[in-house]
Amino acid sequence: MEVLKESGQREVFCGLTSIVWLHRRMPDAFFLVVGSRTCAHLIQSAAGVMIFAEPRFGTAILGERDLAGLADANDELDRVVTDLLARRPEIRTLFLVGSCPSEVIKLDLAKAAERLNGRLTGRVRVVNYSGSGIETTFTQGEDQALTALVPLLPRGDQRQLLLVGTLADAVEDRFLTLFERLGVGPVVALPPRRSTELPPVGPGTMALLCQPFLGSTARALQARGVTLLPSPYPLGVEGSRRWFETAANAFGIDPAHTATVLDPLVARGQAAVAPHRRDLEGKRLFLLPDSQMEPALARFLHRECGMELVEVGTPYLDRALQQPELDLLPPDTALSEGQHLERQLERVRAARPDLVVCGMGLANPLEAEGIATKWSIELVFSPIHGCDQAGDLAELFARPLRRRAALAFA
Ligand code: SF4
Repeated sequence: MEVLKESGQREVFCGLTSIVWLHRRMPDAFFLVVGSRTCAHLIQSAAGVMIFAEPRFGTAILGERDLAGLADANDELDRVVTDLLARRPEIRTLFLVGSCPSEVIKLDLAKAAERLNGRLTGRVRVVNYSGSGIETTFTQGEDQALTALVPLLPRGDQRQLLLVGTLADAVEDRFLTLFERLGVGPVVALPPRRSTELPPVGPGTMALLCQPFLGSTARALQARGVTLLPSPYPLGVEGSRRWFETAANAFGIDPAHTATVLDPLVARGQAAVAPHRRDLEGKRLFLLPDSQMEPALARFLHRECGMELVEVGTPYLDRALQQPELDLLPPDTALSEGQHLERQLERVRAARPDLVVCGMGLANPLEAEGIATKWSIELVFSPIHGCDQAGDLAELFARPLRRRAALAFA
């Protein structure tokens, strides 16, 4: 499969966005962005304003004096952290999240974390990672956060399955029940639901990624002796089935037993997808590079929903993680990696696809040109994993087409 590599102007959110789903996953953690007012606005508007709950994220704002090097940003940061922990004694893990401004002024957050850990040992663990938007895309925020946790995982030699990547709690509960019925276990997760309950890892651990954008985490785990199980991702019926089969095979489960457990789920999932397939079948799809989930979504929308693939763009193509998905795409799929916004928009306009999956910033202009769109960021905020969610996943793409058809009819 040939890949068109592009670089130029990009239109993506930065890694700070991932705080929105990470802070929900670990309610005992706090994410302190060290950034500018722009960073604060981004995270506040992405997460919505929490009126009734104390938010578990905030921004230590670098003012003009910090940016000009006139103030010692480290002193300021220590003061903000001290105030925060005095007000919020329930915080167990504090993530210091770097941003473009903190990187530009070369504020060393690794050193700051080390210094604060020295002071706060036994009370709070301080971890740092970068959510900067310089040459990154928004899903890399989670990858960076999890990579920062890997060195902290205790060592454990037991044979176990490690699920890597944030899942909605309800989806994870269903998956755990299924693994139990399959005979796969014990099963642990990174990130865990409590930030202090980090799973032990070692040579007996087999890691199954829930998301295709966790390349750096996967490599850090491999360096700890963990075996990575390559698989399509649990999006759609087929991807979910293959994902569970990968784990079952690795644990030596009889394929006949695996089929007995999975067959009813597959039948239910296919029935849920069917009404949406009627709207999606034969429609032409263009995926602009945004989330790194594009190959998995293209596979689902083509193979299970009958859509035609005009182009599948992805911001980065990590072969080690994406090959099982690429193997399921038609061999002549037009695949592109990276972004050159103007050229890609020219190709979109020339192809006039029925649906474009893209970042939020591109959706309105394309809609104004008469092209239906779906925000790719919705796919990380919605529970879309597993056979049971396949119908909902298909509906996310069918809805904009139905709306457009209804408007045309009106
Ligand atoms: S980290 Fe960079 S891209 Fe993200 S909001 Fe802050 S300045 Fe903007």
